Amino acid sequence: MPVGGDGRSACPIPDPGRGGDRRVTVWVLGDQLHRRHGAPAGAHPRTHRVLLVESEAQLRAERRHRQRLHVVLSSMRHFASALAAEGFTIDYRRAPDLAAGLAAHRADHRPREVIATEPCSWDARLVLRRLGVRLVRNDQFLCHPDEFAAWSAGRPRLRMEDFYRWQRRRLGYLMDGDRPAGGRWNHDTANRRPPPRDGRPWPEPVRDPLDDLDRAVLADLGGAGWGAPPEGLWPTSREAARRRLDHAIREVLPRFGPHQDAMLGGSWQMAHTLLSPALNLGWLHPREVCDAIEESYRAGGVPVASAEGLLRQVLGWREYVWGLYWLWMPDWRDANELGASRPLPPAFTGTAPTRMACLAEALEGVRARAWVHHIQRLMVLGNLCLLAGVRPAELVAWMWASFVDGAEWVMVPNVIGMALYADGGRMATKPYAAGGAYLNRMGDACARCPYDPRRRTGPHACPYTTLYWDFLARHARRLAAEPRVAAQVRAAQVRPDLPAIRSRAAEVLDLLDAGEL
Ligand SMILES: Cc1cc2nc3c(=O)[nH]c(=O)nc-3n(C[C@H](O)[C@H](O)[C@H](O)COP(=O)(O)OP(=O)(O)OC[C@H]3O[C@@H](n4cnc5c(N)ncnc54)[C@H](O)[C@@H]3O)c2cc1C
Ligand code: SF4
Repeated sequence: MPVGGDGRSACPIPDPGRGGDRRVTVWVLGDQLHRRHGAPAGAHPRTHRVLLVESEAQLRAERRHRQRLHVVLSSMRHFASALAAEGFTIDYRRAPDLAAGLAAHRADHRPREVIATEPCSWDARLVLRRLGVRLVRNDQFLCHPDEFAAWSAGRPRLRMEDFYRWQRRRLGYLMDGDRPAGGRWNHDTANRRPPPRDGRPWPEPVRDPLDDLDRAVLADLGGAGWGAPPEGLWPTSREAARRRLDHAIREVLPRFGPHQDAMLGGSWQMAHTLLSPALNLGWLHPREVCDAIEESYRAGGVPVASAEGLLRQVLGWREYVWGLYWLWMPDWRDANELGASRPLPPAFTGTAPTRMACLAEALEGVRARAWVHHIQRLMVLGNLCLLAGVRPAELVAWMWASFVDGAEWVMVPNVIGMALYADGGRMATKPYAAGGAYLNRMGDACARCPYDPRRRTGPHACPYTTLYWDFLARHARRLAAEPRVAAQVRAAQVRPDLPAIRSRAAEVLDLLDAGEL
């Protein structure tokens, strides 16, 4: 990216000049773009200067998706631009890393103090503390890690369902007095239906033409990153994020729920709001989303199962994984209880194609949009890596770099805890392992696939089906003790064709490694 010799970016932000007037610096990190939360909430142009640093180390850390790089950088520049319009003096700079950026800022401006919102990642929090930055309490979530730690104290098992009900009670969402609206806490059974057969299209997502800042970032990126370039799907400003929230509540929420777990090739966004990048960068606060769900439900026209289904994601799952991340880090990210040692399949890194239709479609979604939906993440990409025994750290790194909404706090729980069962059941009560039958029930890709989801052996057997039975047999000793999978483990052990399955599984794993599946 063209950056001035003094390290400042070619972003259209007023030049702060040098020398400094000892104002307090508010340092805003790229995933904390909230004006009314954390450190920026108390800032005023007369008393505060704003610092944003584009860290070259972070940008080059992994083979990142172009849309991810774009949404982060363009969002940072839009945020800086909005603050400049409010009258703030902005020091927007690019530096080899965060520490170098802060050192250069301090040398130029000699601020009285540097403050920042508590960072969202473990490592960034350590770095900022080490650099003497005063951290302001992070209120980007509805439950602070301290509150989560208090909730979790003394509980033998930290179940999402218990946490979610606690959140609903204390925050009052979808509550009628002390009872859940509609009489039930949980509508999951109504919300796990196979794909709809009515042929109705799912609402088209909001797209905005790229503005001047977006285009400047794209030009600056040059050939950096991989994957398709941005096409206005992901919001890079507060206004764009609000438009997406309005669309999600008006168009998606009334149909949210029943088909949450279903996958249709022609409807990549089915049953999803696409709000995760806006939430994770800070453009939207979860309270705004929960308030909008509540209002829409109370106004009528939104089934309680739909309102509850989306509230469960935002108030439940999202806050739960955030709390667990802070409770169990840093050891959690290194967990590998199943001793998985296989490298990431070459199909993931784009160095080999795959004939597996469900996998090819999920990987094409990642390439085209840097986003695929929950079941593709969990049951197509994650499940394959679980069954094949891929090293957890490799899948974490790949997803983190590839998804537009990637962040360590959300990736570690979802990959280590959920998809790969790498913490041995500390978070999930069972491994999310499934064969082709599940994927065939929940999606339509099998009809386009040369493999057969019902076959366990032979060259046309679905790799998921073969590897599923092999996985249960491979880890029989450990999994037999897990009540929720013990029956399947016993079923695997008594299969008359188990030797043939295991021999085909060995071939499948070799083909996977060779990029020939
Ligand atoms: C292996 C794996 C990797 C994942 N990686 C990410 C990631 O990098 N970033 C990310 O934000 N989510 C991640 N998720 C969670 C979830 O898949 C995405 O949040 C969701 O698909 C985003 O699309 P959406 O906004 O349309 O979600 P919706 O289904 O519309 O849900 C609304 C919001 O709920 C929140 N949410 C729902 N489920 C989860 C969850 N399990 N964890 C955290 N938040 C949740 C998200 O903020 C989401 O935007 C991952 C899940 C799995 C299984
Ligand atoms: S047959 Fe197996 S590999 Fe092919 S699409 Fe179905 S589940 Fe995927």
